[in-house]
Amino acid sequence: MADSQWNAEKSSELYGLGRWGSPYFFINILGHVSVRPRGRQGECIDLVKLVNELQDRNLNLPLLIRFDNILESQLESLHTAFKRAITRYNYNGRYQGVFPVKCNQQRHVVEKLICCGRRWNFGLEAGSKAELLIALSLIENRDALLICNGYKDRRYIETAILAKRLGRRSIIVIEQIGEVQHIIDASNQLGTKPLIGIRARLSSRSTGRWRNSVGEKAKFGLSVPEILSTLKILKDANLLEELRLLHFHIGSQINDIAIVKNALQEISRIYVELHKLGAPMGYLNVGGGLGVDYDGSKTATVASTNYSLQNYANDVVATIKEECDSQLVDVPTLISESGRAIASHFSVLIFNILRVGNLPEAIPSEGENEPLVIHNLRNTLRDIQILPYETDFNINKLQEAWNDALKFKDDALDAFRLGYLSLTDRSLSEQLTWACARLIHERLSTKNDLPKDLQDLSSVLSNSYYANLSIFRSAPDTWAIQQLFPLMPLQRLQEKPSELGHFVDLTCDSDGQINRFISNGQSKPLLELHKFNPNEPYLIGMFLGGAYQEAMGNLHNLFGTTDVIHIRMISGNNYQISHVIKGDTNADVLQAMGHDPEQLIERLRIASEQSIRDNKLDILSAQRLMNHLASSMRQSTYLESKNS
Ligand SMILES: *Cc1c(COP(=O)(O)O)cnc(C)c1O
Repeated sequence: MADSQWNAEKSSELYGLGRWGSPYFFINILGHVSVRPRGRQGECIDLVKLVNELQDRNLNLPLLIRFDNILESQLESLHTAFKRAITRYNYNGRYQGVFPVKCNQQRHVVEKLICCGRRWNFGLEAGSKAELLIALSLIENRDALLICNGYKDRRYIETAILAKRLGRRSIIVIEQIGEVQHIIDASNQLGTKPLIGIRARLSSRSTGRWRNSVGEKAKFGLSVPEILSTLKILKDANLLEELRLLHFHIGSQINDIAIVKNALQEISRIYVELHKLGAPMGYLNVGGGLGVDYDGSKTATVASTNYSLQNYANDVVATIKEECDSQLVDVPTLISESGRAIASHFSVLIFNILRVGNLPEAIPSEGENEPLVIHNLRNTLRDIQILPYETDFNINKLQEAWNDALKFKDDALDAFRLGYLSLTDRSLSEQLTWACARLIHERLSTKNDLPKDLQDLSSVLSNSYYANLSIFRSAPDTWAIQQLFPLMPLQRLQEKPSELGHFVDLTCDSDGQINRFISNGQSKPLLELHKFNPNEPYLIGMFLGGAYQEAMGNLHNLFGTTDVIHIRMISGNNYQISHVIKGDTNADVLQAMGHDPEQLIERLRIASEQSIRDNKLDILSAQRLMNHLASSMRQSTYLESKNS
């Protein structure tokens, strides 16, 4: 199996690991993916070994592993980048970030961020009432900010105002013109003035998936005329003094730094003008959008960004400083709501492959009196076999052969339908067609610029790797918005992956598959994978999925949450499992749909008693059935793997 020409570096290059995974992920000497949760100098854990050790503790695949040190590292990188930029440009102000809770609302994640963000007074951003409840109760640091975004009703606004009396630094950001009057009424009634912000609807162009977050028709924010009328209304209500913050958010995963710069120029101009119009201001909130380089190509393409974190921080700081300096306005405290950039890297989803489905490989030997179509297919196969290898062979000949094979296969199908061909002969025709396909594909493997039909051969021949996973639960963005996440095998990386495949999940839905993969600035329909050996676990990791996937995931086919584990490094390459969150059991998902598991089981008990009385079921088998039902209720919704 081992190919002496292949090695770990080649795998790293092939899957792009060195580009998107650095500094956290690399391939170790065993050919396994290994993680260095504390970054370059830190200790490492072999992911394959880790999964084995977790399985020994009765945790089941698929597993979502969160590396808390990576979360902390990412948070630290963000603050370091802004600190450097502030020093470099002599910015006479500071940076104070918040985490947009919608990115990952999980309790242990938010708590961890609050805890390790304390030294920077890192705060939270809420976009709904439920998120506000999380933010309100978890931030106890009086210096951390609590940014109240999202659409608000009177109760949301009153809660945010009263939070100020609890000692929370809550700032209510006006997203819609209608919220202004609510704020005025609530503040009069409660006798407390809130800190107020305005979200501006920028006209700067954006690109990518979330481009509709800007422009005249955008769903969020106030247009310039609305901002000016808000200023007047606030002034009349004696609240202009409380207008402290200006905010924009032009969509997530901004791929091109030019877009960021444009928006920053526009927002800085508005900031300075608001100041001149008498608003005290003091905070500029540049929203989210800081991108993640999912494929590591450093390009302005969908799965990448053409800028680094440092470039981003530099541009924010420099653009705002330049405008404020030129207008003699004090520079604001800078806020960003960077969610994706903080929360993507720390979680790794690991799933196992159950089996591989592919087209038949065997070439059936010739029988007597085979029908004409079968005979024709055999001749076609022979024609391909006798084409000379070395000489500059004729692609046209191969194309012709492939067209013939497809034609004969169709003929065979017609003949079968009309009753002239047996099921056995139909099977022969399919086997021979795929034998032709494989042979042609083999001949062409070194050629580029193939005609379309022949290019498609590799997807025709590709393998379906059946994954113990629901993409609707664990990687919903791959389905909903064609997002690309890096995926790769976790083992056998010193061995050349000889197959091409895509992943199909457990759901009974043809959409339940992953068939787009990162490819250095582009995407490809198939991933290089190893030949599956049913006797040996084959683990696949999906990386950089820590943002958004968990809350967006759904219960399609009633596949529930996976087991989740938090890992924290302790000295000497040791780790500590700081939290285990067991995944949904079948009872949990049934309850989510309004079923009562006990009642379901009771109905089946009654049915089985009836069958016992009718002599259709013996007591032992009935008991076996009842045991299965009871255990299923307590167990995970995924398939149990052999080695666990
Ligand atoms: C979603 C959202 C964010 C987070 O964006 P990222 O690109 O994940 O950093 C920040 N602010 C607002 C208003 C949002 O809606």
